[in-house]
Amino acid sequence: MRTSGAYWRGDEKRPQLQRIYGTAWASKEELDEYLQRLEEAKARDHRRLGKQLELFHISQLVGSGLPLWLPKGAILRETLEQFLRKAQLERGYLPVITPHIGKLDLYITSGHYPYYKDSQYTPIDVDEEQFLLKPMNCPHHIEIYKSSPRSYRDLPLRLAEFGTVYRYEQSGELNGLTRVRGFTVDDSHLFVTPEQLEEEFIGVVALIQHVFQTMGFDDFRARLGTNDPNSDKYAGAPEMWVRGINAIKQAADKVGMKYSIEEGEAAFYGPKLDFIFRDVLKREWQLGTVQVDFLLPERFGLEYIGEDGQPHRPVMIHRAPFGSMERFVGILIEHFNGAFPLWLSPVQVMMVPIADRHIPYAQEAAAKLRAAGFRVEVDTGNERMNKKIRNAQLQKIPYMLVVGDKEAEEGAVAVRTRDNEDRGAMPLVDFLAHMTTLTNSKAQVL
Ligand code: ZN
Repeated sequence: MRTSGAYWRGDEKRPQLQRIYGTAWASKEELDEYLQRLEEAKARDHRRLGKQLELFHISQLVGSGLPLWLPKGAILRETLEQFLRKAQLERGYLPVITPHIGKLDLYITSGHYPYYKDSQYTPIDVDEEQFLLKPMNCPHHIEIYKSSPRSYRDLPLRLAEFGTVYRYEQSGELNGLTRVRGFTVDDSHLFVTPEQLEEEFIGVVALIQHVFQTMGFDDFRARLGTNDPNSDKYAGAPEMWVRGINAIKQAADKVGMKYSIEEGEAAFYGPKLDFIFRDVLKREWQLGTVQVDFLLPERFGLEYIGEDGQPHRPVMIHRAPFGSMERFVGILIEHFNGAFPLWLSPVQVMMVPIADRHIPYAQEAAAKLRAAGFRVEVDTGNERMNKKIRNAQLQKIPYMLVVGDKEAEEGAVAVRTRDNEDRGAMPLVDFLAHMTTLTNSKAQVL
């Protein structure tokens, strides 16, 4: 299939080898189907579409693996964030905001340093103290937990943040939005009593299912990542691991969620349940994750006062339904081939005036749609109507509204879709009502 350079056992100090990639299939049909999917994947490459649709840009002066979100990409990402923020508020999550760096001691306490040393940047020296670019949000949230004494009445405490973290990736591994050096996790840490663990875990799984359902992701599976007992990569006592794994199994069984068990896929501090999504091209992507953690509460000496008036140790749940905003948007671009559902489309409507004299009416209609919260542009260029429609379709804008004398006179719009479906003329108020219905239900269809 292709070749590339590789270092023996991934060590760049060793000599370079030639890696040869191949593929094998049981039948010619399967091979052909696979090759066709590859072609399709190439056409949907999010780096190509990201440029064409003006979603993001990688500047070599800013640096590889540090994507810049262009206005249209930023709208898409913010729409996703708003959706999750609302879902979280409804479920009793509390927003917090934390800085992008923290003292090295914080990460030594948490154990992220030196466990993740290879994927972190060199510490920064400030006034004889060492700081680390944040590789994880957890320790910051733990310090928020510790900012005041906690009682069992305060729990569960669910702290949420779209927190940006930085991880070192070799330059050869960097890829558009899916492999980057700085990314934003839709992170949350739930501090719970041991008795609340199962119910809270179930609540998190339900939230992830809600997120996937809204995205129209129905083809996904769950994977329980456990520790490899023969590896020294995992911290904490063996009985903590057994407790954590059992808690996840019980919660998953209770909601009837099937999962496979994969040894060696856990976080260093505890077992986790990962959600793996299969896109339209049958490619698997790991998205959401939920992790049970008995270790960090111990490392940081977290406590709450129980009903008995005695101090007890809470359990932590780490979770992120999208995983990383960058990666998630990269996957969305490829899954939808850039033709996002209406509620996520950066530009939802393009007004197409037939002649210059129709521009004022087009502007007026656009203003009405904008006032209702929709994202609308007006094509005031000199091109002919069909060319304007074609341009908007290339931008995968869901609706084109053509307006001429008749429409201006009747307060109507002639509706076209990005799939070139001609829906004919309708009163602007009716179109507005249609848009409202579709966006409120986050519909997949136009
Ligand atoms: Zn965490």
